[in-house]
Amino acid sequence: MTDMTKIAILGSTGSIGTQALDLVRQHPDRYQVSALTANTSKEKLFAQVREFRPVMAGLLCDLKDEEIPDDLRFCSFVCGPQALRIAASEVPADQVLIAIVGIAGLQSVMDAIHAGRQVLLANKEALVTGGHLVMDAARQMGKILLPVDSEHSAIFQCLQDAGGNRPTRLFLTASGGPFRTWPREKIERATVAEALNHPNWSMGAKITIDSASMFNKALEIIEARWLFDMQPDSIQVVVHPQSVIHSAVEFEDGAVLAQLGVPDMRVPIAYAMSYPSRMTTGSKPLDLFSIGSLTFEKGDPVRFPALRLAGECLRAGGASCTILNAANEVANLAFRENRITFGDITRTVEETLHRVGPLSADSLQAIFEADRTARQTATSLIAKM
Ligand code: NAD
Ligand code: MG
Repeated sequence: MTDMTKIAILGSTGSIGTQALDLVRQHPDRYQVSALTANTSKEKLFAQVREFRPVMAGLLCDLKDEEIPDDLRFCSFVCGPQALRIAASEVPADQVLIAIVGIAGLQSVMDAIHAGRQVLLANKEALVTGGHLVMDAARQMGKILLPVDSEHSAIFQCLQDAGGNRPTRLFLTASGGPFRTWPREKIERATVAEALNHPNWSMGAKITIDSASMFNKALEIIEARWLFDMQPDSIQVVVHPQSVIHSAVEFEDGAVLAQLGVPDMRVPIAYAMSYPSRMTTGSKPLDLFSIGSLTFEKGDPVRFPALRLAGECLRAGGASCTILNAANEVANLAFRENRITFGDITRTVEETLHRVGPLSADSLQAIFEADRTARQTATSLIAKM
């Protein structure tokens, strides 16, 4: 038992969380789950606790003691926001997988880093909002962050053993989402069902809408800027509809290394879990002949203004990326609830950035404050739409 890796999974009932548990299921001799947390999915969490037997399980919603099934009494259930902190930093764990959605991930990442845990980072919002603070904290603790996002995992894999070969450009691939070929007017009026119909990846609802608006790629540009310490001008978005190349790195000697595979998030999750070694994932083999050809297009910042906004916010600095992220989270949800049109998502983000103006991001408190301000502004803009 001693060389088992203890893993805490925040957001265990989600798309990334359940795929990580599938890997644990495939490698029972390597991983022991020490904590699991979910937002509101009680029954799903109970089933996971029954199967993986963590010492602690957390829920953000209320849980009455009598609701806990008798056979799960071995596990300590915690409710409310402290559940995330306990799972990230107090429960004995070697690794913490942060697979919750939204800015809630920022505090959890900081907690896990400060507790000396190895962070496996799926939650991109933590780096988008607090990238400089997160990277500083990791450096101070002598830790690296292991990316789970498929593009960033691909880049991270390409950067291994570079032998001093300096990376000059990152090629961040994007499927282009369901509206890749649609004209602007049609995108403006897209329905929720159309936006949820992602061509290649099966993911949580929020990120699937972000893929359709390309705000997902905007967040990933910002994520890459911090993870790999690259300037925005050196990060090129490449629309690649087949989603076979998960991203690539150009080096100063002219070599370009890419990572390829079928779109299966278990591959990047497994790489983060087993780094620096590797393990099997159950992923299907890549059949290049049936794919036939790989194609590449420029991202269109006119039809997908998110691509332009990422660079603008990075250059503006301060809390701009936090404001972009907050306004997008609010607008993304409003769209899913049919309160605004698809085109209104971008309008809300641009107008929120304009109205809120520059704010500081010098501390976690300042970032949370900017986040609150941006949410209020976005919410009141949406109420008038
Ligand atoms: P999801 O919606 O499927 O699951 C989210 C999980 O977090 C659930 O367990 C939910 O109960 C919990 N949760 C939701 N909101 C929470 C909150 N405020 N506080 C605490 N817990 C909360 O999401 P997902 O698709 O698994 O994505 C998780 C993160 O990983 C996101 O940041 C996303 O951008 C990133 N990511 C996901 C994918 C993917 O393929 N799904 C790929 C790359 C990156
Ligand atoms: Mg991604």
